Amino acid sequence: MQEYHNGTQCLHAGYVPGNGEPRNIPIVQSTTFRYASSEAMGALFDLEAEGYFYTRLQNPTLDRVAAKICALEGGTAAMLTSSGQAANFFAIFNLCSAGDHVVASSAIYGGTFNLFSVTMRRMGIEFTFVSPDCSPEELEAAFQPNTKAVFGETIANPALIVLDFDKFASAAHAHGVPLIVDNTFATPINCRPFEFGADIVTHSTTKYMDGHANCVGGAIVDSGKFDWTKYPDKFPGLCTPDESYHGITYTQRFGLAGAFITKATAQLMRDFGAIPAPMNAYLLNVGLETLHLRMPRHCENALAVAKHVQNHPKIAWVNYPGLEGDKYHALAQKYLPHGTCGVVTFGVKGGRKAAETFMAGLKLASIATHVADAKTCVLHPASSTHRQLTEAELQAAGVSPDLIRLSVGIEDVEDILADLDQALALV
Ligand code: PLP
Repeated sequence: MQEYHNGTQCLHAGYVPGNGEPRNIPIVQSTTFRYASSEAMGALFDLEAEGYFYTRLQNPTLDRVAAKICALEGGTAAMLTSSGQAANFFAIFNLCSAGDHVVASSAIYGGTFNLFSVTMRRMGIEFTFVSPDCSPEELEAAFQPNTKAVFGETIANPALIVLDFDKFASAAHAHGVPLIVDNTFATPINCRPFEFGADIVTHSTTKYMDGHANCVGGAIVDSGKFDWTKYPDKFPGLCTPDESYHGITYTQRFGLAGAFITKATAQLMRDFGAIPAPMNAYLLNVGLETLHLRMPRHCENALAVAKHVQNHPKIAWVNYPGLEGDKYHALAQKYLPHGTCGVVTFGVKGGRKAAETFMAGLKLASIATHVADAKTCVLHPASSTHRQLTEAELQAAGVSPDLIRLSVGIEDVEDILADLDQALALV
């Protein structure tokens, strides 16, 4: 499917029906798969044969949707997870054990920050958070001998900071570790991180990929480009035999193209079981089929909103990397020349109280713990998704107390602007 453009891949990649087979990806709603002999089943358990035996490990519906996301990102292997949280956890935990260390941008989604700084730290994995605007020297200083990965978001939620891929990828590679990038906000329609040096991509498919607020989900894609075998001491899980799979060495058996995802499936999905339901994968695929149409509309509407509020007398500030003059516009032009995302953040003059009045006054946009959805929605991160962060952490994440995150949908933009105006009039 590589020869097709991304729009075509949104519709066709991952599944080519044979003669008389279903036109849509079939929902294989079965936990188990029948085999004629125990021997055949045994070969699957030893990863010696390909096939399905239990949906916690693999399921045809999930695999086909994962293959579509893999093609969209230009990767070599991919897997679906039950949430974006699970995708980010698996991506890191597939490389790190207790005693290891990760360098991460501080401008990331609050849930990911908490996963890293609290839960994974409890598991013995340390994180050093660096400002996305740090100098190459400051980034360099964050590395330790036990560093196993670098993590960032293409467009940070909700700070809307565009990742400096060159800076982060070259630092990661100079230290012999992969760059893992959460590409949720950009989607492969607007940015393909593998083209800019990322090695692993993660997604909360809950957002634009699904696009209709139907189901929570995640995905991990491997570029197949990172050569784990050059650093066997750093990545023993990929380069030395796995006793829980009868001594398989993932890089030997599955090559660079398949080692990372096979290990994540065989070990992490087996043991943690964060698998989406086949029905959810099906719904995600319905969303993916129009991703290439929705993203440009999101960006067009968001740019119109950013321009509109920029000059509004009741607006204190606005952030949108697609907007000329925005601090991250140059990086957006470099890495996302066709559009960034549909999320715009701004502050209403008068601080928190004014923000509350404004948000309560919105009629079309609903207040929802959600973002990157076809319908316009709005949130105050400091009192919701980022509530657990301290003042200093909020600042590092780029979340000011007055920040309003408007996720601009694909409605007629005149209606979105009119809704904003009437709510601002109430402030
Ligand atoms: N990554 C980013 C950039 C997100 O915005 C989110 C959720 O908002 C997540 C990961 C977590 O994804 P999920 O809610 O699907 O677990």
